[in-house]
Amino acid sequence: MDGYEDYFGLNEPYNTGRKPVQRRSDERRTRGEYSTVQGRKHRKKRLRVSRAFLTAVVVVIYVTATIMLFAFSKDLGVKIKESEEATVAANVLENPVYPDDYETVRVSRDDVNKGFLLLINNDYECKQDGIDLANVSENYNKAYQVTDYAVEANKTTIDHMNLMFADFKEAVGKNDLMISCAYRSKALQEQLYKEEVDEKGEEEGAKWVTMAGHSEHQSGYAFDLTLCDENGGITEFNGEGKYAWIKENCEKYGFIIRYPQEKTELTGIYHEPWHIRYVGVAHACYIKENNLCLEEYISKVKGYSVQSPLEYQDCEMNRWCIYYVPAQGESTAVSVPKGRQYEISGNNVDGFIVSVKMN
Ligand SMILES: [Zn+2]
Repeated sequence: MDGYEDYFGLNEPYNTGRKPVQRRSDERRTRGEYSTVQGRKHRKKRLRVSRAFLTAVVVVIYVTATIMLFAFSKDLGVKIKESEEATVAANVLENPVYPDDYETVRVSRDDVNKGFLLLINNDYECKQDGIDLANVSENYNKAYQVTDYAVEANKTTIDHMNLMFADFKEAVGKNDLMISCAYRSKALQEQLYKEEVDEKGEEEGAKWVTMAGHSEHQSGYAFDLTLCDENGGITEFNGEGKYAWIKENCEKYGFIIRYPQEKTELTGIYHEPWHIRYVGVAHACYIKENNLCLEEYISKVKGYSVQSPLEYQDCEMNRWCIYYVPAQGESTAVSVPKGRQYEISGNNVDGFIVSVKMN
């Protein structure tokens, strides 16, 4: 038996022994007994008493209400204020941006061409010649091989290569993956392009080797894989069989297969299972889950702003707010949340992509 039943008188012991409540129809019948003159006088007296009584009641109610209003006005004010604040808070929660304080950082026009989310292809040139490069063989964890001691790559990219190839070695039991190329200078790219075009003609050659200045290798964020057996025999990495592990897991380490089979028209480059590009875990997971190439992703992110960011939980269960800020003149003000971990990368096109970690 709960309070609900008690409230509606369904709890029987509450009603037992009570006098029935007199109904209105019973009151009218009672008044009908005073239909004589004496009865009318008596009724007038009763009416005067009633008026006096009613006046007294009205005065008492008025005074009580005034006192209560005065007594609770302060409390009432607080409640109204709380209610307004609750409405504001609810609106903020409806907005995808978390109710953080934001601060402004300034980035330069040159920063559009720096960062791990650069879109580098036939349309957008790599303006940098190596970004935060480090020697691979001096920094690698020996879970893979490097074609020679001179190979360099972006330092963050090497750190993530180490994590990925250590897990690959443990999962698959092989350490025959070899970095055949990572950072490549513009001059070397020019030489490779010329050789390819001389052999295949300009149109076909350009689909295999990118023009000087338009290769991701120039940034240091991309590398190529080959296989090197224990006798030193080199074979092409096709990403099949046991090596499909790379394609299936690379996003967890921030990598994408940059030139997928079905995206040749958008990338302008034939499928290269061996060419792997670092873009960061949040972005790599989103790109893979949504079956995008980098061209499509960079375009999609431009639809998100600091007021309406892309909220996303990546494959490692980290939550992100991702948004685009267009470059404005020589210096751009970028809003970033106070007290949260964030990264800003140029998109190499026309602005910046901000990635804010929300957990
Ligand atoms: Zn490559």
